[in-house]
Amino acid sequence: MDIRKVGIVGAGTMGNGIAQVFSLAGVDVVMTDVTDAAVERGMKTISGSLDRMVKKEKLTEGQKAEVLGRIASGTELGGMADADLVIEAASEDLDIKLKIFAELDACVRPDAIIATNTSSISITKLAASTKRADKVVGMHFFNPVPLMALVELIRGLQTSDETYAAVEAVSRMVGKTPVQVRNSPGFVVNRMLCPMINEAVFALSEGLATAAEIDEAMKLGCNHPIGPLALCDLIGLDVEVAVMQVLYEGYKDSKYRPAPLLVEMVEAGYLGRKTGRGFFDYSK
Ligand code: NAD
Repeated sequence: MDIRKVGIVGAGTMGNGIAQVFSLAGVDVVMTDVTDAAVERGMKTISGSLDRMVKKEKLTEGQKAEVLGRIASGTELGGMADADLVIEAASEDLDIKLKIFAELDACVRPDAIIATNTSSISITKLAASTKRADKVVGMHFFNPVPLMALVELIRGLQTSDETYAAVEAVSRMVGKTPVQVRNSPGFVVNRMLCPMINEAVFALSEGLATAAEIDEAMKLGCNHPIGPLALCDLIGLDVEVAVMQVLYEGYKDSKYRPAPLLVEMVEAGYLGRKTGRGFFDYSK
């Protein structure tokens, strides 16, 4: 299946990054969000990101205008009716996603593929809510989308080989490296990454070392570019707790229990960079 037009639902952190990557590869894009303000924020982020590419001479001003010109945006899903592929990248909330899937199922072409960028919700469950379960698949991009090479392609129980082949081809076409993953809580990366971060929080709360020492040890000892606690601040402590809860519920295994300190910090509103405070201080 040739993918020439892509719809993207949600213009936030991930949605605008996905829109940028597809438009840079020459694909027509329609990006929506619930409010004009959210759509404008998304477009502004893309424009700023393209400006940095112009500055680094990776793009000309003319090419930047072309990339922006390929992205239509608004608050209605109707513009996606003739899309070949729609990627849902709205907030991580099952009810929101089920509502969007129902609307998409009704308004986009019956042969179009509906993908989701969810970090934790079951692809099989989302697929079952549609009349095209074989055409539903997970496309889990990583943050920041324009820079990160990986996309996990998650097959629900119902995903057809044809659907998988189409999203694999388009992932490569936009410059990403796909890895095929079976639908399961946390998929591959979050299944391993989030427990590692959680363990770092246990180590901190047990007084094994300070936050800075734990991060220094993991950077120098494991060659990680960023320590687990600084990474947690970047991802958001609330997101880390949410993924651990999905793993804990999904596998019913106590090794996935969220560290109590992590839960308490979320209760306090210390969510990491986005609130200026997490394991480290970002207030300055
Ligand atoms: P975000 O909060 O930055 O953006 C979500 C956007 O969805 C918001 O702008 C919100 O207004 C919009 N939205 C909510 N309901 C909508 C609706 N009905 N229609 C259209 N838009 C709607 O969140 P994000 O970080 O971009 O995450 C989006 C998805 O990507 C989530 O499923 C998340 O789990 C996943 N994800 C996030 C990351 C990450 O590092 N942030 C990484 C991989 C995957």
